[in-house]
Amino acid sequence: MSHSPAGSGLEIPQEELRALLRRSADWAADHLAAVPEGPVRPHFPEEQARLLESGALDEAPRSPEAVVDDILDLIAPYPLGNGHPAFFGWVISPPAPIGIAADLIASAVNANVGVGDHALSRLERGALRQVRGLLGLSPAGEGVLTSGGSMANLLCLTAALRSVLPAEDAPGALTAREYVFYQSSETHACVARAVRMLGGTLRTIPVGPDLALDTDELRTAIEKDRADGLRPAVVASTLGTVGTGAVDDLVTIGAICAEYGLWHHGDGSYGALWSAVPRARALFAGMDTLDSVTVDPHKSLNVPIDCGVALMRGQGLRAAFSMLPTYLHHDDDRPWLNEYSVELTRSGNRVLKLWSVLRMLGRRGVIGLLEHHLDVARHLAASVTAHPSMRLVADAKLSTVCFVYEGCDSKELARRVTAAGRALIATVDIPGPDGPLTALRACLCNYRTTTEHVDVLVSEIERAAASLAAESK
Ligand SMILES: *Cc1c(COP(=O)(O)O)cnc(C)c1O
Repeated sequence: MSHSPAGSGLEIPQEELRALLRRSADWAADHLAAVPEGPVRPHFPEEQARLLESGALDEAPRSPEAVVDDILDLIAPYPLGNGHPAFFGWVISPPAPIGIAADLIASAVNANVGVGDHALSRLERGALRQVRGLLGLSPAGEGVLTSGGSMANLLCLTAALRSVLPAEDAPGALTAREYVFYQSSETHACVARAVRMLGGTLRTIPVGPDLALDTDELRTAIEKDRADGLRPAVVASTLGTVGTGAVDDLVTIGAICAEYGLWHHGDGSYGALWSAVPRARALFAGMDTLDSVTVDPHKSLNVPIDCGVALMRGQGLRAAFSMLPTYLHHDDDRPWLNEYSVELTRSGNRVLKLWSVLRMLGRRGVIGLLEHHLDVARHLAASVTAHPSMRLVADAKLSTVCFVYEGCDSKELARRVTAAGRALIATVDIPGPDGPLTALRACLCNYRTTTEHVDVLVSEIERAAASLAAESK
């Protein structure tokens, strides 16, 4: 006797499914339209929050309509707020609408781009080549899409370490701890996490007044480690620090790496894409000499989360990660993409979202979007500079603007602005000659943010500062 599809518990009759997906899609479109009108982060009642985290699994099934009701009533109305054009916190973007459509379609296909040779696995190779083209890198070289910058950096640093490790059976091979990774004090914490997982030694080099890695200090540290019998292995430069958007001196660091035989990695999660923009390109001189580089399309490109990119100038990923157990043997011409990553099952949603955004924008549109972020950031920097009580505390070369309101605690200001609900901003500690300074930090990476939203932020900060001043009287 054959089982009816309904017996599986998952089947939804065609007309009902169509209605369910339409309702979900209508919600998404209405949500996007309504976001700018509402508060940045809608109030999330604690009672409701507890309900979501405490739920036990029911015994009985529910209808698909009831499940979608729950999603739309209990969950979807309470986001982090990063879809809102007045959300300036951290580096978290809104979703490009085309990516939402791509995500739905990719989910229907449920593509696994870790395995097999099919349209989306070919498309991933193509999309990676498009990203290389935007960055001005040669089309050759390995790459793979990841969940984001942290995973992309982990993959690249693993490949870097494997490339300098002697063959496992080489006599006198050093232990992982004896291999030294170098970063600056402004490097994203995911590099330290990766080195922790890899078991290497991490040296943190101070930054200069420009908040970029101090290259003289780097050379001194490498010399000292060599003299101590360690093996300097990898420098992780940053192409746009998460704190202030500073770009390390890739030419000088590249020359040091070449001189001492180190792998030069670039964390471009936040900033690397701006190398495609003529007016910013000079900051990234030397990028084409990096041995590996990461990019996060789910930041400045507004590809819906998640989507990161790991790229090699030449090889490295496959050598580090390829495992070919018998159950994955195949006759396809090309290696399957799981050989370049730690993920075996890999979501095809990433590539379809990325490719759709690139396809919609074209090169000109990508540059236009990236310029838009720079222009809006420039407007904020100019407003801060012109303001009698505000002061920039880092040179805003990319889309991050760090500033203080004289006489006001930045953390308290950020708290009050965020609580008022018309804008959201976070803070960061910036190293300075007299120790770290806590500054307000606005990151512009939203295609919908205009100078008017920036003006709202400035007036909300003024209002918060006035309330603080009134209380301390
Ligand atoms: C955001 C960021 C990361 C981490 O990327 P995720 O996508 O959040 O994992 C790493 N480095 C820099 C410079 C970043 O801005």
